[in-house]
Amino acid sequence: MPSQRDDCLFCSIVREGNYVRQEKGFVAIKDINPQAPVHLLVIPERHVDTFRDIGEFPAREMKRMLEFVAETAREAGLTDYKVQVNVGPSAGQTVFHLHWHILGTIPHSDAIDHVQTAVVEL
Ligand code: 5GP
Ligand code: ZN
Repeated sequence: MPSQRDDCLFCSIVREGNYVRQEKGFVAIKDINPQAPVHLLVIPERHVDTFRDIGEFPAREMKRMLEFVAETAREAGLTDYKVQVNVGPSAGQTVFHLHWHILGTIPHSDAIDHVQTAVVEL
């Protein structure tokens, strides 16, 4: 496993967390304090303190991490969403292990729209 810190919350979540999605090198979890109807965090196994250190990721791993963010959003049912990284305390960063916020709202499904249409027609 790439670099880990014993005293890091997200390193321990990567080791033993309750994931919504996982693949080698990355996990996705639900944010404990959601700021949107869907609020997920993508966390790489590799510990880097902040986005400022993004250069520590090998190019291939970096590409895979961004693909993992997009796939996680899609599998969560999101088409439109925000991807956010807070960099540094005054920008809102509270956990110093790089992570990507996915924030969105699941649109009404076709099934629900169909039922609503049927009710109107009756
Ligand atoms: P930051 O503020 O560093 O950009 O984001 C850290 C996020 O981690 C916050 O949105 C916060 O709610 C979330 N968080 C903090 N501790 C935990 C935890 O123990 N479990 C989970 N699932 N999320 C956490
Ligand atoms: Zn860490």
